Amino acid sequence: AAAPAHALELDGVSQHFGHLKAVDEVTLQVAPGSRHAIIGPNGAGKSTLFALIAGTRRATAGRVVLAGQDVTALREHERVQRGLVRTFQHSSLFLRGTVLENIVLAAQQVSGQSWGMFRPVSRRRALLGEAHELLRQVGLQDRHGAPAGSLSHGERRQLEVAVALACRPSVVMLDEPAAGMSPAETHRLTELIHDLPGTVTVLLVEHDLDLVFGLADRVSVLHLGRHLMTGNPAEVRASDAVQEAYLGA
Ligand code: ADP
Ligand code: MG
Repeated sequence: AAAPAHALELDGVSQHFGHLKAVDEVTLQVAPGSRHAIIGPNGAGKSTLFALIAGTRRATAGRVVLAGQDVTALREHERVQRGLVRTFQHSSLFLRGTVLENIVLAAQQVSGQSWGMFRPVSRRRALLGEAHELLRQVGLQDRHGAPAGSLSHGERRQLEVAVALACRPSVVMLDEPAAGMSPAETHRLTELIHDLPGTVTVLLVEHDLDLVFGLADRVSVLHLGRHLMTGNPAEVRASDAVQEAYLGA
């Protein structure tokens, strides 16, 4: 079968809270392998839209289509199993477990495997090998035995990304991944996202516009729940409508 034209499509997706249209008929496409950012002033609807895509919240109207398949009716964990995986703005780690255990747990939950004594040794070795490789990718290899709760803020954010990647996503959604990070940690994260294999599509919501413009190849702008424009970073930066949306916020 031909590869789907879009990794993800939103078709008229809406979320109304009473009279407030937090997300108002948003239609946009995310290309396979792209680093696609969603930006917009505070209250624009970014977090709500993210929840609708991930399935944390069910849209009032519209469709969410993952690699050509309508996932609108699916729950969040069912979307995870189909390769749509998000990290959380607030930590969802198992803090008493080690860094390595957090990765292995995530990988098992998605593959439906248990970490029992009767697992074939070869399979356990493979899982462990993959977990160590992910930790190397995010720069946490030296911390594999540390309890997740003992990590610095920036290290936790790195681990959250590794946990999301352990779920073998086709689309990974990062919700403000650089929030609270030092400049050095932000730099490392930017490189990590940049170096992810082209088979992984990245969708991120981010306040830090320098990070967005340095990393993203596509940028969608939300304003008052509506999709204002999608373009490459230069087009979005040059847009008068985008400037006004930020200044008027
Ligand atoms: P952003 O992430 O871009 O700052 P949000 O998606 O958090 O924006 O919020 C968009 C709008 O929806 C805001 O006006 C916010 O106050 C409102 N909103 C968000 N969540 C809820 C909710 N659970 N109930 C009512 N209003 C909400
Ligand atoms: Mg938000």
